[in-house]
Amino acid sequence: IDFRVYSLHECVLRVIALMESEATRFGHQIHYKEATEPVLVLMDQDKMIQLLLNLVKNACEAMEENGVVHMQLTSDAKSVTVVIADNGPGIPNEQLEKIFHPFFTTKESGTGLGLSICYKIVQDHQGTLEVESELGTGTRFIITFPLAQ
Ligand code: ADP
Ligand code: MG
Repeated sequence: IDFRVYSLHECVLRVIALMESEATRFGHQIHYKEATEPVLVLMDQDKMIQLLLNLVKNACEAMEENGVVHMQLTSDAKSVTVVIADNGPGIPNEQLEKIFHPFFTTKESGTGLGLSICYKIVQDHQGTLEVESELGTGTRFIITFPLAQ
């Protein structure tokens, strides 16, 4: 793993660029609200992009046509928070604890590996990863990382 100080904002822009054509194919939009302060994080940039890409991909796969993925960065003195929210079907309560387990999938051709990889990447960056979901309303993943000194 190659840790350096990078802007999380730049990672989000990369992920949006990488997802643009797939999102458009489903009629989805990606809305992004950036932070007002610099958001420099000690990170492995490839892993960070893989993490965000997995979450945006899941959001796009979960939503019916013409959905909106909301991405937001906020920061305080010590940490930065990334929110990735969708207006998809939501995750049933009894599945919420399983989604981070390797091989848990509800998709016909899913691997069930995406979120377990996300969890590992967040851990490797001393971050936290939480999920909030409401059936019929959508799902929100909330990630925090310590800001680089
Ligand atoms: P895969 O995408 O291959 O199924 P993941 O580990 O990425 O594997 O996700 C595991 C499961 O978690 C998915 O199959 C789906 O049931 C659920 N899930 C993940 N993200 C979302 C989301 N944004 N909305 C609804 N369900 C989700
Ligand atoms: Mg996935």
